Amino acid sequence: MKAIVIGGGIGGMCAALALEQIGYQTEVYEAVKTIRPVGAAISIWPNGVKCLNFLGLKAPLQALGGNMAFMAYNDFQHGQTLTRFSMAPLVESVGERPYPVARADLQAMLLNRYGAQRVNFGKRVSYIEQDATGVTAWFDDGSEARGDFLIAADGTHSVIRATVTGQSAERRYAGYVNWNGLVSIDETIAPADQWTTFVGEGKRVSLMPVSGNRFYFFFDVPLPQGLAEDRSSIKADLTRYFSGWARPVQQLIAAINPQTTNRIEIHDIDPFPQLVKGRVALLGDAGHSTTPDIGQGGCAAMEDAVVLALTLQAHSLGIEDALRRYEARRADRVKDLVLKARKRCDVTHGKQPEVTRAWYEELKQESGERILSGMQETIVGGPLA
Ligand code: FAD
Repeated sequence: MKAIVIGGGIGGMCAALALEQIGYQTEVYEAVKTIRPVGAAISIWPNGVKCLNFLGLKAPLQALGGNMAFMAYNDFQHGQTLTRFSMAPLVESVGERPYPVARADLQAMLLNRYGAQRVNFGKRVSYIEQDATGVTAWFDDGSEARGDFLIAADGTHSVIRATVTGQSAERRYAGYVNWNGLVSIDETIAPADQWTTFVGEGKRVSLMPVSGNRFYFFFDVPLPQGLAEDRSSIKADLTRYFSGWARPVQQLIAAINPQTTNRIEIHDIDPFPQLVKGRVALLGDAGHSTTPDIGQGGCAAMEDAVVLALTLQAHSLGIEDALRRYEARRADRVKDLVLKARKRCDVTHGKQPEVTRAWYEELKQESGERILSGMQETIVGGPLA
């Protein structure tokens, strides 16, 4: 059995590793010559971590993950703590730690495990066709590849999605812009073992530790789509948007490197139930694009990969039957994640200002219990709970 995997991002590489783990042959085709991930880092929550552990990546992941022992929300103007609590109860209840990881490190870990030289880079699929015995993918250089089935892990702009769902999917602007990057840890900005978030005015500024003595930082600002802002104006833009914010936020803006800071308009896609057609399955952002507000898009791609392999391994009525079962196991889960993230996004980013103000007030009363139990509910919905 040979699978053609389209896309060499988190989803495609996890799928290829999971399929090889159950004895399938894989060929990975990636559009770009060098992968440049859209964000600087990613928080891998315990549901995702368990999937990477399952793929044999426990030790390398632990070496790359930051120590997020505590979580805190701070007031935007004066920087004082609204709530601060240990992540230990969450870790104990779900049986695994979260690991914030630099994306380049995560990508390199996945590629190295699979064998980077085995990935067919510079191969952009333009269309696919399936028949009774397999699937053929055509690339924009005129070449083609054929396998018994095909995993479309070609991301949020997937060209394969419509052939599976029968319709085009509109990306929905979530209403805010995110800037993210990496910066050396400076404990006058935030503690090195804590996920720290400053909130106010429907905006947020967040710092998470990753390996190599670095913070992953991000800034969120509700803004209209399509503003003419770019790398050259990042510091001035952030200084304007965060004028009057606490000293650590100003220090962070001063410390960032505009050349390595990303600016992204955040989108998602309304969840849809069709993830499979015949011998073709959507995986990762191709099948479910979410806002990053609960940090679950990449984790969901890891879950997809593991469920795909477990389903193929457990059933023997053929590829099409197993892929239908993969779809049945994933459709509700990924819908739930996309909608949960959307809800969180709206509260965090002031869609209804009074709701957001009430949330700021709630944070002052928060012991950690409510926030951690929300996270726990999301995490235990994963396949390796
Ligand atoms: P991608 O990473 O987009 O990879 C798709 C790959 O397919 C790319 O390499 C692309 O070049 C390739 N490709 C595209 N078209 C073609 C084609 N036609 N032919 C061949 N190859 C093609 N998730 C979390 O779990 N935790 C987080 O903390 C988190 N934070 C985030 C922060 C931000 C700002 C953003 C934007 C996202 C965040 N996510 C997070 C979500 C996460 O980044 C995505 O869910 C994840 O990258 C999806 O992986 P993927 O492999 O499905 O897609």
